[in-house]
Amino acid sequence: MEDAFFGHFLLSINREISEDGPTLWVRPSSDDKVLMGINPNFWTTELKKKNFRMGCIKHEVLHVVFKHLTRAQERSGGRRRYPNAKLFNIAADLVVNQYVESRWLIDGAVKLQSFPDLNLRKEMDVSYYYDKLDDFYKDQMDNLPQEAQSSSDLGESDGNGTGKCPNCGKEIGESGDESGGGSGDSEDEESGDESGGGSGDSEDEES
Ligand SMILES: [Zn+2]
Repeated sequence: MEDAFFGHFLLSINREISEDGPTLWVRPSSDDKVLMGINPNFWTTELKKKNFRMGCIKHEVLHVVFKHLTRAQERSGGRRRYPNAKLFNIAADLVVNQYVESRWLIDGAVKLQSFPDLNLRKEMDVSYYYDKLDDFYKDQMDNLPQEAQSSSDLGESDGNGTGKCPNCGKEIGESGDESGGGSGDSEDEESGDESGGGSGDSEDEES
Protein backbone atom coordinates (compact mmCIF):
# COMPACT_ATOMS: atom_id res chain seq x y z
CA MET A 1 0.00 0.00 0.00
CA GLU A 2 1.33 3.28 -1.10
CA ASP A 3 0.45 4.97 2.12
CA ALA A 4 3.40 3.37 3.79
CA PHE A 5 5.53 5.66 1.73
CA PHE A 6 3.78 8.73 2.98
CA GLY A 7 3.76 7.53 6.52
CA HIS A 8 7.46 7.02 6.35
CA PHE A 9 7.96 10.37 4.76
CA LEU A 10 5.82 12.09 7.31
CA LEU A 11 8.02 10.89 10.11
CA SER A 12 10.83 12.98 8.73
CA ILE A 13 8.82 16.16 8.60
CA ASN A 14 8.40 18.36 11.59
CA ARG A 15 5.00 19.71 12.26
CA GLU A 16 3.63 22.86 13.71
CA ILE A 17 0.12 23.37 14.91
CA SER A 18 -0.57 26.97 14.32
CA GLU A 19 -2.98 29.52 13.06
CA ASP A 20 -0.45 31.19 10.82
CA GLY A 21 -2.24 29.81 7.83
CA PRO A 22 -5.88 28.97 7.30
CA THR A 23 -5.46 25.31 6.39
CA LEU A 24 -2.33 23.27 5.88
CA TRP A 25 1.00 24.36 4.49
CA VAL A 26 4.64 23.52 4.22
CA ARG A 27 7.50 25.89 4.72
CA PRO A 28 11.22 25.77 5.24
CA SER A 29 12.38 25.91 8.82
CA SER A 30 15.42 27.76 10.01
CA ASP A 31 17.58 24.66 9.98
CA ASP A 32 16.82 23.88 6.38
CA LYS A 33 14.26 21.28 7.09
CA VAL A 34 10.65 21.36 6.19
CA LEU A 35 7.83 22.20 8.52
CA MET A 36 4.31 21.12 7.89
CA GLY A 37 1.79 23.44 9.42
CA ILE A 38 -1.71 22.55 10.35
CA ASN A 39 -4.36 24.95 11.46
CA PRO A 40 -6.16 23.17 14.27
CA ASN A 41 -9.48 24.85 13.63
CA PHE A 42 -9.45 23.94 9.99
CA TRP A 43 -8.47 20.39 10.85
CA THR A 44 -11.19 19.80 13.36
CA THR A 45 -14.02 21.74 11.82
CA GLU A 46 -13.58 21.59 8.08
CA LEU A 47 -11.60 18.43 7.64
CA LYS A 48 -13.77 16.13 9.60
CA LYS A 49 -13.76 13.48 6.98
CA LYS A 50 -10.82 11.19 7.02
CA ASN A 51 -10.63 11.21 3.25
CA PHE A 52 -9.99 14.89 3.21
CA ARG A 53 -7.47 14.72 6.01
CA MET A 54 -5.54 12.11 4.11
CA GLY A 55 -5.83 14.12 0.96
CA CYS A 56 -4.56 17.31 2.53
CA ILE A 57 -1.64 15.58 4.19
CA LYS A 58 -0.74 13.80 1.02
CA HIS A 59 -0.98 17.03 -0.89
CA GLU A 60 1.52 18.69 1.40
CA VAL A 61 3.85 15.70 1.46
CA LEU A 62 3.87 15.68 -2.31
CA HIS A 63 4.95 19.31 -2.36
CA VAL A 64 7.94 18.17 -0.37
CA VAL A 65 8.57 15.13 -2.53
CA PHE A 66 8.56 17.31 -5.63
CA LYS A 67 10.76 19.86 -3.90
CA HIS A 68 8.35 22.66 -4.63
CA LEU A 69 9.65 24.78 -1.80
CA THR A 70 13.09 24.99 -3.27
CA ARG A 71 11.88 25.12 -6.82
CA ALA A 72 9.83 28.17 -5.96
CA GLN A 73 13.08 30.01 -5.38
CA GLU A 74 14.81 28.80 -8.50
CA ARG A 75 16.70 31.35 -10.49
CA SER A 76 17.75 31.39 -14.05
CA GLY A 77 19.94 34.00 -15.59
CA GLY A 78 20.00 35.97 -12.37
CA ARG A 79 16.27 36.33 -12.22
CA ARG A 80 13.63 34.35 -10.47
CA ARG A 81 12.39 31.60 -12.65
CA TYR A 82 8.94 31.87 -11.09
CA PRO A 83 8.38 35.49 -10.16
CA ASN A 84 4.64 35.12 -9.88
CA ALA A 85 4.27 33.29 -6.58
CA LYS A 86 0.58 32.83 -6.98
CA LEU A 87 0.88 31.16 -10.33
CA PHE A 88 3.67 29.03 -8.99
CA ASN A 89 1.44 27.84 -6.21
CA ILE A 90 -1.30 26.96 -8.61
CA ALA A 91 1.13 25.16 -10.88
CA ALA A 92 2.52 23.21 -7.95
CA ASP A 93 -0.97 22.29 -6.81
CA LEU A 94 -1.81 21.09 -10.29
CA VAL A 95 1.19 18.81 -10.11
CA VAL A 96 0.44 17.28 -6.75
CA ASN A 97 -3.32 17.02 -6.98
CA GLN A 98 -2.95 14.64 -9.89
CA TYR A 99 -1.47 12.17 -7.44
CA VAL A 100 -4.16 12.52 -4.82
CA GLU A 101 -7.20 10.33 -5.17
CA SER A 102 -10.03 12.50 -6.33
CA ARG A 103 -12.31 11.49 -3.47
CA TRP A 104 -9.63 12.78 -1.13
CA LEU A 105 -9.62 16.21 -2.68
CA ILE A 106 -11.70 18.89 -1.09
CA ASP A 107 -14.02 20.91 -3.25
CA GLY A 108 -11.76 23.85 -3.75
CA ALA A 109 -8.81 21.86 -5.03
CA VAL A 110 -7.39 22.96 -8.35
CA LYS A 111 -7.32 20.34 -11.06
CA LEU A 112 -6.37 20.22 -14.69
CA GLN A 113 -10.05 20.44 -15.49
CA SER A 114 -10.18 23.78 -13.72
CA PHE A 115 -8.43 25.22 -16.76
CA PRO A 116 -10.28 23.84 -19.74
CA ASP A 117 -8.96 26.53 -22.06
CA LEU A 118 -5.36 25.63 -21.53
CA ASN A 119 -5.38 22.04 -22.70
CA LEU A 120 -2.99 21.09 -19.98
CA ARG A 121 -1.18 17.81 -20.33
CA LYS A 122 -1.10 15.33 -17.53
CA GLU A 123 1.77 14.48 -15.27
CA MET A 124 3.96 17.33 -16.28
CA ASP A 125 6.36 19.22 -14.15
CA VAL A 126 5.69 22.45 -12.29
CA SER A 127 7.58 24.53 -14.84
CA TYR A 128 5.28 23.36 -17.60
CA TYR A 129 2.13 24.35 -15.73
CA TYR A 130 3.64 27.60 -14.60
CA ASP A 131 4.53 28.64 -18.12
CA LYS A 132 1.13 27.73 -19.45
CA LEU A 133 -0.59 29.64 -16.68
CA ASP A 134 1.73 32.57 -17.05
CA ASP A 135 1.12 32.82 -20.78
CA PHE A 136 -2.57 32.80 -20.29
CA TYR A 137 -3.12 34.72 -17.09
CA LYS A 138 -0.26 37.11 -16.61
CA ASP A 139 -2.30 40.05 -17.79
CA GLN A 140 -5.53 38.92 -16.29
CA MET A 141 -4.88 37.43 -12.93
CA ASP A 142 -8.35 38.40 -11.86
CA ASN A 143 -9.77 35.88 -14.25
CA LEU A 144 -8.29 32.91 -12.55
CA PRO A 145 -10.93 30.36 -11.73
CA GLN A 146 -12.31 30.59 -8.26
CA GLU A 147 -10.59 27.54 -6.90
CA ALA A 148 -7.27 28.97 -7.97
CA GLN A 149 -7.77 32.30 -6.27
CA SER A 150 -6.78 31.04 -2.89
CA SER A 151 -4.19 28.53 -3.79
CA SER A 152 -1.01 28.99 -1.87
CA ASP A 153 0.32 26.72 0.76
CA LEU A 154 3.99 26.97 0.00
CA GLY A 155 5.68 29.10 2.55
CA GLU A 156 7.53 31.99 1.11
CA SER A 157 10.89 32.35 2.64
CA ASP A 158 10.99 36.05 2.07
CA GLY A 159 9.44 37.12 5.20
CA ASN A 160 5.95 38.35 5.27
CA GLY A 161 3.33 35.84 5.87
CA THR A 162 0.89 36.95 3.27
CA GLY A 163 -0.06 34.23 0.92
CA LYS A 164 1.12 31.49 3.12
CA CYS A 165 -1.76 29.19 3.23
CA PRO A 166 -3.20 26.28 1.80
CA ASN A 167 -4.18 24.37 -1.00
CA CYS A 168 -7.09 23.41 0.80
CA GLY A 169 -8.69 26.45 -0.28
CA LYS A 170 -9.30 29.23 2.13
CA GLU A 171 -8.97 32.75 1.07
CA ILE A 172 -5.99 34.67 2.08
CA GLY A 173 -4.99 38.19 1.40
CA GLU A 174 -4.24 38.98 -2.16
CA SER A 175 -0.58 39.56 -2.67
CA GLY A 176 -0.86 43.28 -2.78
CA ASP A 177 2.73 44.29 -2.79
CA GLU A 178 2.55 46.83 -0.09
CA SER A 179 5.87 45.93 1.24
CA GLY A 180 5.88 49.30 2.85
CA GLY A 181 5.34 50.07 6.41
CA GLY A 182 2.35 49.79 8.49
CA SER A 183 -0.15 47.87 6.55
CA GLY A 184 -1.73 45.07 8.19
CA ASP A 185 -1.76 45.18 11.86
CA SER A 186 -5.30 46.17 12.33
CA GLU A 187 -7.30 43.06 12.51
CA ASP A 188 -9.74 44.27 14.95
CA GLU A 189 -11.28 41.21 16.20
CA GLU A 190 -13.64 42.44 18.74
CA SER A 191 -12.60 39.67 21.01
CA GLY A 192 -16.18 38.70 21.00
CA ASP A 193 -17.11 35.15 21.21
CA GLU A 194 -16.55 34.45 17.60
CA SER A 195 -15.00 31.11 17.21
CA GLY A 196 -11.66 32.75 16.87
CA GLY A 197 -8.72 31.99 18.95
CA GLY A 198 -9.88 34.12 21.78
CA SER A 199 -10.83 32.68 25.04
CA GLY A 200 -8.08 30.50 26.25
CA ASP A 201 -8.11 26.79 26.02
CA SER A 202 -11.68 26.23 25.37
CA GLU A 203 -12.76 22.71 25.38
CA ASP A 204 -14.43 22.30 22.10
CA GLU A 205 -14.85 18.68 22.29
CA GLU A 206 -13.52 17.10 19.22
CA SER A 207 -14.20 13.51 18.97
ZN1 LIG B 1 -0.56 23.09 -2.29
